[in-house]
Formats: sequence, C-alpha cells, structure tokens
Amino acid sequence: IEHLVKSYRRGGQIVPVLTDISLTIQPGDFTALMGPSGSGKSTLLNLIAGIDKPDSGVLRVAGLDIAGMGESELARWRATNIGFIFQFYNLMPVLTAFENVELPLLLTKLSRRERRERVELTLAMVNLADRMDHTPNELSGGQQQRVAIARAIVTDPTLIVADEPTGDLDRQSAGEVLALLNQLNRELGKTIIMVTHDANAAAQARSMVHLEKGELMAEPAVAG
Ligand code: ATP
Ligand code: MG
Repeated sequence: IEHLVKSYRRGGQIVPVLTDISLTIQPGDFTALMGPSGSGKSTLLNLIAGIDKPDSGVLRVAGLDIAGMGESELARWRATNIGFIFQFYNLMPVLTAFENVELPLLLTKLSRRERRERVELTLAMVNLADRMDHTPNELSGGQQQRVAIARAIVTDPTLIVADEPTGDLDRQSAGEVLALLNQLNRELGKTIIMVTHDANAAAQARSMVHLEKGELMAEPAVAG
C-alpha cells in the first residue's frame, strides 16, 4: 500500500477518512489492525479486499494492482482470492452451514461432487462436521463464526481479512476463533489482516499496526 487516500462523499460534503496510508504486509504475516472507533479500519480493510475503491494511491495484493482493476474483473478476483470474515458473521439465514460454505464455490468450475468434498473437508477443519445441516439460528455465535471462517477459506484464498471477528463473541468462543486463525496462518501459511479492539486478540497476531485519524502510527500505541 503506497500513499493510499480515501474519502467519502455525503450530501455534498467530503469526509476524508484515510489521508496517506503506506504499509507493506509480507505474505504469510498475521497482522492486527487496531485504532479508535471511526479511525478508518473497516474502510482500509474494504479497500484491501477490493470491496471499495481508493481515491488515489497504490494498492497491490500479491503483485496485482487492485486499485486499477475494472469492476467485474475485481469481483471475479475477489471471489476466489479474498476470504472476508465479519463481526456479525453475515451468513445466509435460510441456508444450512453446508450451503453457506458452498456458496463461494458456485462461482468456480468445480463439479457438484468436488464441491461437496471441499465443503465437508473445510467444515471438518473448523470442527463442525456434525453441524453441517444446521441453519445459523440453530448454531451458537462461535459456531456461526466458524461457519463464516469455513466460507472464507473454502476457495483457498491468498488473503484472509477479518473485521472484528471476535467482537460479538464470549471469551471462550473468541479464543476458539483466534486459535483457528492462528492455525490457518501457521499451518497453511495464510496471510491474515485482522481488525480488532481487543488487545488479547491482537496479541495472537504476529505484527500490529495502529491507525489513528486516518494515518498509520509508526509505533503501536499502548493497548487499551
Ligand atoms: P469502528 O472501530 O467503529 O468499526 P472504523 O475504524 O472501522 O470504526 P470506519 O468504518 O472505517 O471506521 O469509518 C471511518 C470514518 O468514515 C467514520 O467517520 C465514518 O463515519 C465514515 N464512513 C464510513 N463509511 C462511510 C460511508 N459509506 N459514507 C460516509 N462516511 C462513511
Ligand atoms: Mg469498523
């Protein structure tokens, strides 16, 4: 990321959010992104994931210029290269755990059988082999987040971005989700960027960056 700038336009007003962000995250890193509410963490994550576009600056993921890509090209890239995990899981309520995890694979050329194998394997990885036919309302918060993690990794993405993935969970479920992210990073070499307000969660990551008033701080601020 080089000199990334992003502002929002609302009712004729321009709201500057990211003023000048430069940051390099190495492949295989697990980075915690911290900072006060409204500092632009989600905005930065959405830019990195190709969900939104910067006003200016350079944004490359695995050598690819994301900021310069067209909308449909970007959507296709995002579907298989980025795994996004949200605070409130964002699962489809009418679909089972199996069907939720299968969704991203419907955009691939995999056969029905290959999809089934992949989904079953991924749900087993997040310890939910026995909950495949449950809909989200039949699962605990921690289990729903593990389904969401399975959905995020089922396409074997280059990069996993997580926006406060433990923000809605009790301490034990949060611990399980963090352990899972750690495992994905250490055993499968997944690059992870995680926004968090929780110093305990941030301590699980390998590196930390701190966002303050639209700028990155060189030294991480004292936790809390
Ligand atoms: P939190 O920790 O509360 O989640 P954050 O660091 O993720 O905060 P952002 O959601 O990135 O913060 O928001 C940064 C700023 O941009 C805020 O002042 C917010 O009001 C503003 N903002 C975010 N999205 C929009 C939008 N779509 N239109 C206008 N302003 C927005
Ligand atoms: Mg946010």
